[in-house]
Amino acid sequence: MLLLTCPHCHVTAEETEFAPGGQAHLKRPQPEAGDDAFESYMFTRPNPMGVHLERWRHAYGCGKWLIAARCTVTLEVFGTYPAQTAAPPAEIVKKIKKKRPEWEAPA
Ligand SMILES: [Zn+2]
Repeated sequence: MLLLTCPHCHVTAEETEFAPGGQAHLKRPQPEAGDDAFESYMFTRPNPMGVHLERWRHAYGCGKWLIAARCTVTLEVFGTYPAQTAAPPAEIVKKIKKKRPEWEAPA
């Protein structure tokens, strides 16, 4: 069971109360980047065994978007933060690095 805590309303609930929104921190390519860059942006997503930063919406709660840093293998949640945040907060990166030193934060 995956338990997520909404950073907006501070409710901790099962994943069924949230709607998944895919990979977080995607960066749209510049218009001159070319078809391959746009194809990759639109259709290619990593499917990591390990730490993943994902967008979720608190669908049966406050309705707001959040980002969850979690391990796809163990379902361990390292933290959640508002989706408007440009990069993972330092305390969440520190928590992840403590358990997964090889993990790299998205650029
Ligand atoms: Zn909420």
